Amino acid sequence: MRHGPRSFSVCLAVNHAVKVSWPATSLPTGSTRHARGTPSAVSAIREDAAPDADGGTDRDADRNADRAALKGDCGNCFGLCCVALPFARSADFARDKDAGKPCGNLQRDFSCGIHARLRDKGYQGCTVYDCFGAGQKVSQVTFGGRDWRAAPETSRTMFEVFPAMRHLHELLWYLTEALTLKDARPVHADLRRLLAETERLTEGDAASLAALDVGEHRQRVNVLLLRTSELVRAKGGRKAKNHRGADLMGRRLRRADLRCANLRGAYLIAADLSGADLRDADMIGADLRDADLSGADLTGAFFLTQPQLNAARGDAATRLPAGLARPGHWSV
Ligand code: SF4
Repeated sequence: MRHGPRSFSVCLAVNHAVKVSWPATSLPTGSTRHARGTPSAVSAIREDAAPDADGGTDRDADRNADRAALKGDCGNCFGLCCVALPFARSADFARDKDAGKPCGNLQRDFSCGIHARLRDKGYQGCTVYDCFGAGQKVSQVTFGGRDWRAAPETSRTMFEVFPAMRHLHELLWYLTEALTLKDARPVHADLRRLLAETERLTEGDAASLAALDVGEHRQRVNVLLLRTSELVRAKGGRKAKNHRGADLMGRRLRRADLRCANLRGAYLIAADLSGADLRDADMIGADLRDADLSGADLTGAFFLTQPQLNAARGDAATRLPAGLARPGHWSV
């Protein structure tokens, strides 16, 4: 399978000069794209409990519920990923599309005209993508429910703000998850501060979001995520492998012992990870497109996102970390 310069994630980095420390793997996809759904809380992240004796809060135990709110709610979005983001004809997309131009399949009500047939029609990339809840935040909060068709004068800024918001929401996902990790307790107070700061940034007006240096904020978050990773993976001892940023494309890693491994930004495209032990591995930014996770154990693997899983292959025997769903296209 040919993997083109793909998707939304790469385009985001290029178009918005967002320099990141791990390759973004958030492919454009729309696992939930255009299944009109129940409006979810635009943001459920909050700080409403006092720290307890060990620096944690009652809220930390319930962070997975917060993460559940960090996913696309297409019924409350103005089809932003289908307009704002560009894509290139490749294995993931049947056609080229420029940023700011509505996809030809986007309907008047912002639903997708080929939602049930995306893979058959060559839009596999759209089945992988998730905006982490950025679409509904921009649509309903930043722009107060006025869509770009009804108020075309807002469209340019709206399409500029969406990628920035998506980056911020992706950071909210990681920070929220980090607070569920008991081994990261020494940095929980710092994580809570950055989580609150990131949440505040998402609540800014359109002008401040458009002017935001997301890359700078992301770097600050990344320092803390790195420390979190070290604390969690320390239980793997000296045996834990370090494959940070490694080129493992197509590699045969069947039944490999990757417990507590550092797979940050690793290129695992089409790798055979069937039966691999990936428990407590750091998966941030690992490119899992077409990787075979059949029978792999990802229990406790962290900083893994739904778009990464959606891009991979797997089966009913794949064990997943909390908070992630088994993709519908995986074999049973
Ligand atoms: S095919 Fe077009 S309208 Fe449908 S999900 Fe993909 S980008 Fe959106």
